[in-house]
Amino acid sequence: MPKGRPNTANERHAPSADVGKLASEAVLFLKKRTKKLLSVSSNPDSPQNGAAMPDLFLHNSQTRKRELFVPADPTNVRVYVCGPTVYDLPHLGNVRAFTNFDVLVRLLRHLYPGVTYVRNITDVDDKINARAAASGEPIGAITARTGAEFQADMASIGNLPPDVEPCATAHITEMIMLIEKLIAGGHAYAAEGHVLFAVASFAQYGALSGRTPDDLIAGARIEVAPYKRDAGDFVLWKPSPPDLPGWDSPWGRGRPGWHIECSAMSWRYLGDSFDIHGGGSDLLFPHHENERAQSLCAFPGSAFARVWLHNGMLQVNGEKMSKSLGNFFTLRDVLAKAPAEAIRFLLLSARYRSVLDFSDTGLAEARDAINRFYRALQQTPPAPDPPMPEQFLTALCDDLNTPAAIAELHGLANEALAGDTAASGGLKKAGDLLGLLHQAPATWFRGGTDDTVDAAIDAAIAARIAARKARDFARADTIRADLAAQGVLLEDGPSGTTWRRAN
Ligand SMILES: [Zn+2]
Repeated sequence: MPKGRPNTANERHAPSADVGKLASEAVLFLKKRTKKLLSVSSNPDSPQNGAAMPDLFLHNSQTRKRELFVPADPTNVRVYVCGPTVYDLPHLGNVRAFTNFDVLVRLLRHLYPGVTYVRNITDVDDKINARAAASGEPIGAITARTGAEFQADMASIGNLPPDVEPCATAHITEMIMLIEKLIAGGHAYAAEGHVLFAVASFAQYGALSGRTPDDLIAGARIEVAPYKRDAGDFVLWKPSPPDLPGWDSPWGRGRPGWHIECSAMSWRYLGDSFDIHGGGSDLLFPHHENERAQSLCAFPGSAFARVWLHNGMLQVNGEKMSKSLGNFFTLRDVLAKAPAEAIRFLLLSARYRSVLDFSDTGLAEARDAINRFYRALQQTPPAPDPPMPEQFLTALCDDLNTPAAIAELHGLANEALAGDTAASGGLKKAGDLLGLLHQAPATWFRGGTDDTVDAAIDAAIAARIAARKARDFARADTIRADLAAQGVLLEDGPSGTTWRRAN
């Protein structure tokens, strides 16, 4: 997680970084990581254990087609999703995207013996700097606080943590290495303390988002600057004044542009070619177009992401969610009026690529559906060790058709309510793959979301332990204070950290 001041001595970067050595270290790290992941994520239903699995089809934004998904290495399916820029609480649209990608990763884990899921945290960005200037809160405090809030929100909505959650500020070395490679290859140039990507050097520029050069200029809200060779060239590195985060570089003290962060972190943890890149449809251009240009030019002959998935937008009562319309909700706003599982169910009720309309009526219907599923599980206890319901899995494998998958849940609930224990078992198993129905029915009907709350507290405690190990005591203290504000007190003892309610 972010440190208070990014430009400390141990994070300075020698202008002549030893690219080869660092790259081989990255590969070694990856191999170790992969081995570790394989040992923890093998699952009893995976194809190697004999269960028949349906083919997975995904809509690839790059080809604009539904395609059969074939991972480069089925023992390690590699997924990168653009994570949050940490300066504010995640809004419902963000949460929807991360929830859909959580279901994708859960499905991949069911289908394949190994998955590596990387979701970054952008903790250096002009929006963060602007927030600090407006609020007076130090940059490091904003990123630490909102980073912890993001992780707590993901836990409360039932999204599993990614395997790697890298922070941009911890990967400046990799960004500088990529920028040096781009300059050496004739794809970037330094000018007045900036380094810019030369769009004209990459013939495929625009192919991912399907834009013409004129669209590109209109869509990028191009900033005209005297140091640019071409109006469409975008920033890889820019100078940073002393009062803003900055790192030493061959081009002077500066900070990275947003796009290079994801190229660097995906390369660091997944290599130069990987299987799936996900993000919201608002990121397709310019962010993903630019990520792709940088990565393909830095690693000629590589594929970067082979499949691109883009999540649709979320509307509220049929209108675009916006602060000016007064219909802007964070997850915490909605958690104040509905249980997390009902919100999760509603977020999954539309297919990830479609627009999702969020409304109080939809939320009430989602709650009724979850009530019905728990009633079925309560009336007819699930048979032990059930197989994954076939039709349900086929629906999810059809480009994550969650509405069809949810229709299968209703069918299973009908049978379970009629006393079929196998259907009840199937309902529980299918719900689990969607991150739903994990509570005891009695807990749900008590109106509590005890298990979810406990999981969120456990996740926060784990994050605090990690922060202390990394000697990031400021962040550890923020997490403790955040929990205390929610009435949860931590007690550190010889056998670890326990918690209790304040009253
Ligand atoms: Zn990104």
